Amino acid sequence: MNIFEKSKCCVCQKVLQILLMRFFSKCKRCHQDVCLSCSSNRIKLYSIPNEMVKELDKPQRVCDNCYRDYLYYQDLINQYKLQWNTRSLLMNKLLGNKKGKIKIQQPLEFYEKQNIEKDILTGRSDSHLLNYSIREFVTQCQQGLEQQQIRNSIIRVLELFVAHNPTIGYCQGMNYIAIICLCIADEEGAFFLMNHLFNVIIPPRFFSNSSGASLIGYQAEINFLKEMISVNDFQNKEILIQFIELQGPQLLLTLMIQVLNISSLLVTWIQMFKIKSFVPIDKVLLYTLNITTRDIDFMQPKILNNIGKFVHYANLIELFQKDEIYFTKFERTLYIEQYYSKTSRSWVQNDPIILNKLKKISNLDIDEITTLQTQFKKYCLEKRTISIDQQQRQSLKQLAQLTDSSDEDADDQYREILIIQSFKLQKYGINIDTFLYFMEIFLRKECQHYSLDQEKLQLIFNLFDENKSELLDFREFLICLTILLRGSFADKFKMLFTAHTQNILKFQDFETLLSLLIPQDIQQTIEYKEFLQRIVQPYFTYFDMLKVLKDPLIVQIEIQNEKNKHKIKKLNSYIGIIDQ
Ligand SMILES: [Zn+2]
Ligand SMILES: [Zn+2]
Repeated sequence: MNIFEKSKCCVCQKVLQILLMRFFSKCKRCHQDVCLSCSSNRIKLYSIPNEMVKELDKPQRVCDNCYRDYLYYQDLINQYKLQWNTRSLLMNKLLGNKKGKIKIQQPLEFYEKQNIEKDILTGRSDSHLLNYSIREFVTQCQQGLEQQQIRNSIIRVLELFVAHNPTIGYCQGMNYIAIICLCIADEEGAFFLMNHLFNVIIPPRFFSNSSGASLIGYQAEINFLKEMISVNDFQNKEILIQFIELQGPQLLLTLMIQVLNISSLLVTWIQMFKIKSFVPIDKVLLYTLNITTRDIDFMQPKILNNIGKFVHYANLIELFQKDEIYFTKFERTLYIEQYYSKTSRSWVQNDPIILNKLKKISNLDIDEITTLQTQFKKYCLEKRTISIDQQQRQSLKQLAQLTDSSDEDADDQYREILIIQSFKLQKYGINIDTFLYFMEIFLRKECQHYSLDQEKLQLIFNLFDENKSELLDFREFLICLTILLRGSFADKFKMLFTAHTQNILKFQDFETLLSLLIPQDIQQTIEYKEFLQRIVQPYFTYFDMLKVLKDPLIVQIEIQNEKNKHKIKKLNSYIGIIDQ
């Protein structure tokens, strides 16, 4: 250490000289330099001691920032009776009193089970990877429990969650979320909290692992944040935009757990559940970047951990009270719709980067893609004027009135919905009529046993229309087409099942669905009748469908399909047909 080196007090910013060691110290919790007058308090630490802490039993000297953080979460621990794997009052506050029951316990796909256990047991979620403040909180909540016990409850919650949300699956960052949920609730409650987060709060298509989705929701989100940095008064805009690009997953997919200190995190989460929206995460993220821009090196190794040290919970409470800081909820929706509309246009460009992306998503050759692009462009609708009929108008109005209190609010919301709708209509794509026309050509030529009627095709169209704009852009259309024409039986079956129901299907409908996908000649066989008897159930869930995919008959069909793959003709051979 250079004895003439200077440092700053992390609280009052006064310049400290290393040489005069006795006039300042290091905070034992956040490890920052602090002057003596800003570190007069001592608190008990719970987590693994660092090299500076010799006796953990004794209260340790901490900076005033850490002290404030500590006081706030001690308050919450007492007020809401927070304890590891225990149903707390905070959980009721977040979810309301309605208690669901966990109905089905379904087998987990083996590889996901393995992934979860590997993640938890090899210590990726071990406390040392949480930041200094979260670590203290979690350790305090877990006091008196064995490490093995703790890990088992994390694993159980994650497995339960993934088994109930197979279309989301297990993804990076989820284990952190499970840990925080388990500090607030018991295992069952943590599962409900996670369900609520992923199905209500986190924007759609954020984590989706369905084929071809390419995390478009996440992309839109990142793009929105970058846009906000450039239109708001931020310093070092370029560096921040780069930073978001690079660290996006760690910032957003963990809901800021790796960044914020615990008091700020809890304030943010409470707000997020209160307004059932992701907006608090966006606002806190922008706020954090804005206040740390000045003197931080964004390339330093522990950057995520360090930017959160500047954020105090009290300022966040203030931030949430001001409605319009950085953006309003309405502006956010608009930006994201604009993003969809802008990208929808890019998919028909003859640009090598775009073509390569499409190739990756669809598994088609570049020449096939460009051929399709040319045909697609002929039918594209652009900048449609808003045309909402009387009935839609009525239901939009009702929707606006249902959502919040006063009539004036409802009128405003109604206007906002109309504006958002008009942006959706600016997506660059084909409408249902063109879609039906294309499908007629492709499906009839390609597969004799395909008997998708208009109603089914409409369902498929809606499924692939990711922002519900009544138009399919080229990317969406391409994904749809490749699944229908080139997909395995499993791909098609999963897609149709999701399109048809989302979760539950009567046996009759299920049988119809099968009959659409299984070659006519096989349907005449005894083996097929036996198969139907094997799988018979009054109602089918997504999981029953997964079981069907493992049936010997289906496996046999898949093998047959695989063998016939070379017979698939190139899509270019359709050019003449579309042109007619
Ligand atoms: Zn100070
Ligand atoms: Zn500190």
